[in-house]
Amino acid sequence: MSVLICGGAGYIGSHNVRAFLNHGEDVIVIDNLVTGHKQSLPESVKFYEGDIRDGKILDEIFTQNNIEAVIHFCAFSLVGESVEQPLKYFDNNVGGMISLLESMQRNNVKKIVFSSSAAVYGEPERIPILETDPTNPTNPYGESKRIMEKIMHWVSLQHDIRYVSLRYFNVAGAWHDGTIGEAHNHETHLVPIILQVPLGKREKVTVYGDDYNTPDGTCIRDYVYIEDLAHAHLLALEYLRNGGESQIFNLGSGDGYSVMEMINAARKASGHEIKLEIGKRRAGDPARLVADSSKAREILKWQPKVTSMEEIISTAWRWHKSHPNGYDA
Ligand code: NAD
Ligand code: UDP
Repeated sequence: MSVLICGGAGYIGSHNVRAFLNHGEDVIVIDNLVTGHKQSLPESVKFYEGDIRDGKILDEIFTQNNIEAVIHFCAFSLVGESVEQPLKYFDNNVGGMISLLESMQRNNVKKIVFSSSAAVYGEPERIPILETDPTNPTNPYGESKRIMEKIMHWVSLQHDIRYVSLRYFNVAGAWHDGTIGEAHNHETHLVPIILQVPLGKREKVTVYGDDYNTPDGTCIRDYVYIEDLAHAHLLALEYLRNGGESQIFNLGSGDGYSVMEMINAARKASGHEIKLEIGKRRAGDPARLVADSSKAREILKWQPKVTSMEEIISTAWRWHKSHPNGYDA
């Protein structure tokens, strides 16, 4: 039986494709390549170029293949853009989820592992954040992820579908051999932006505010290594295969790193000075976001292996150095 990876040509999806293949799973990918890259996929993977909002192509995939479970990464995920164009986000993210669940129902597919986000929590009331803490998203992106979780919840109660929703904190790094990595045309994430300085693509990194209530005044986030994150998806699928009930899990390392600490780790990892300037706060950035992932550790037996920031950033540096233009030649 096969696993359908929706959005498998994206940053996180492509690393999951590798992890699933290495684990001996039979993988099929659907991606509309809006932000993904076909080159990130091994030639051997069966690939459908299409949009998951198109129920016809999904039905075709489910009919042509013997699919046991879906791993769902498709989404638009730029917070700022979601504020400016909320309907674009609800249409793709929520619309995609509805279309996918409808087709899964029509085709009798019963298991789904879903990419949720720390953005569902909004401004946290306490740190570290637990899955049971209030969810008050502060932007349409986070709201769309929370709605998608709620849709899965109600569908699972009525139909025989079980889900695992994984609320990722900040995902970072690249495949250990540097052959695939993060390649977004419109990059907003801290690690690739910092590394654009030693790559000669930007003169300096702008730190978004140094007047937060944190030890060095810069925002603190919980960074998870991409291969550890991918491993959690394998464990989540195993959990569903073993009959586990629908669940939501935080995925974070449990350690917080400030923007300044990240820049210092990147200096060590790259061996470059990396200039910075202090800029204004970015609207909607909470001072601290750190996960309590004990539920994933206890129930899924998930244990992140690479937790040193220097090591995580070294993998990203290996990828960016060898692919300065991402997947473009
Ligand atoms: P990405 O943009 O690299 O990957 C998304 C993939 O889905 C792309 O390949 C894109 O082409 C595809 N896609 C989007 N809409 C589609 C549609 N309607 N039909 C078919 N394909 C579609 O993003 P990513 O960073 O790899 O994130 C993957 C998932 O993880 C997203 O759902 C995102 O919200 C979530 N997430 C990411 C982070 C992070 O730190 N990167 C943190 C929390 C949650
Ligand atoms: N950040 C920054 N400069 C940048 C990009 C990001 O100071 O050019 C900060 C941002 O304010 C946040 C942290 O780095 O505190 C991580 O941001 P990212 O966009 O990578 O992830 P987010 O936490 O928003 O999901």
